[in-house]
Amino acid sequence: MHLQKRVLVTGGYGFLGSHLCERLLAQGDNVICLDNFFTGARTNVEHLMSNKHFELIRHDVTFPIYLEVDQIYNLACPASPIHYQHDPVQTTKTSVHGAINMLGLAKRVKAKILQASTSEVYGDPNVHPQTEDYWGHVNPICPRSCYDEGKRCAETLFFDYWRQHKLRIKVMRIFNTYGPRMNTNDGRVVSNFIVQALLGQDITIYGEGSQTRSFCYVDDLIDGMMRLMASDDDVTGPINIGNPNEFTILQLATMVLDMIGSRSKLVKMPLPENDPRQRQPNISLAKKHLDWQPTTQLKEGLGKTIKYFENLLSESRTRELLLQKA
Ligand code: NAD
Ligand code: UDP
Repeated sequence: MHLQKRVLVTGGYGFLGSHLCERLLAQGDNVICLDNFFTGARTNVEHLMSNKHFELIRHDVTFPIYLEVDQIYNLACPASPIHYQHDPVQTTKTSVHGAINMLGLAKRVKAKILQASTSEVYGDPNVHPQTEDYWGHVNPICPRSCYDEGKRCAETLFFDYWRQHKLRIKVMRIFNTYGPRMNTNDGRVVSNFIVQALLGQDITIYGEGSQTRSFCYVDDLIDGMMRLMASDDDVTGPINIGNPNEFTILQLATMVLDMIGSRSKLVKMPLPENDPRQRQPNISLAKKHLDWQPTTQLKEGLGKTIKYFENLLSESRTRELLLQKA
């Protein structure tokens, strides 16, 4: 039998957070979604608002908050390069002060706490595929650093609270995830390519498109996240959650164009500074400790994501706005 829990999801208004809130409610938990509405969208959680087990709080994790909860999923942080570089100081504060505030809360109410960390802690990796014992290759002073170093420091704080205060922690390193409710304008590659292909706009390939990423469908990712939270207390992580099937950015572009039947042209644009050349998770630990591996192939997940964006763009106002921005 599932015991009903009080669960706090910071960043619950965003892409991953809204899927998580939905799944927690479906398993019978009470969910508090806390967000400062920086990058998330009301449409992500609108369908949950009438659920009496769901509560939305507008709050910034860089300030303390007092709540009574059993579990905390700490997802609050802008995740796309455009968004996290918009106000880099606030990004570092969100990761670092946010972690301190949420860990302090977990300590006070003895809650189990999970941190949404990232494959970016490996930086531009020299070890491939990335295993959790690799310490990474991160530039501390480039435009990506506010995110990478903020997340690294948050991991440090989680492990210090674990060693020093015996908190029950879970650190999850998330690799590129995609799916419905990705933000249309946040510049991430899957949403960019799909929207460009649907609107007949040029597909923007940064650099030669030979850099690789491994794309995980959102449902698989949330399944891994919830398994990690439910795992025994000695499973602290860090643990990689992602799909190990690796693709070049050019392969992704071609797949999206084929699936949509679009005639958009591929155009090469400058590669952003310190853009990682390759990224692929080794997920042996997730298999071993969580009995988890992704089950959605890229083509299947892209199909569902394309359908989502087709519906979104069929709303004429959204389409107009996107065409104006181009
Ligand atoms: P997202 O931008 O859609 O969601 C992040 C949410 O956090 C938004 O709703 C935003 O408003 C909120 N937020 C930002 N700063 C906040 C603050 N100071 N206080 C309260 N709320 C704040 O991004 P996402 O893709 O859903 O990512 C969720 C988490 O997962 C992030 O921590 C991100 O770093 C991590 N992650 C995501 C990916 C991915 O591929 N999506 C990969 C690695 C890590
Ligand atoms: N990218 C691209 N065209 C785009 C958006 C992104 O070629 O329109 C590339 C980007 O340079 C990177 C990869 O796709 O190499 C993934 O980018 P994203 O921002 O989605 O995630 P991250 O770089 O954080 O992994």
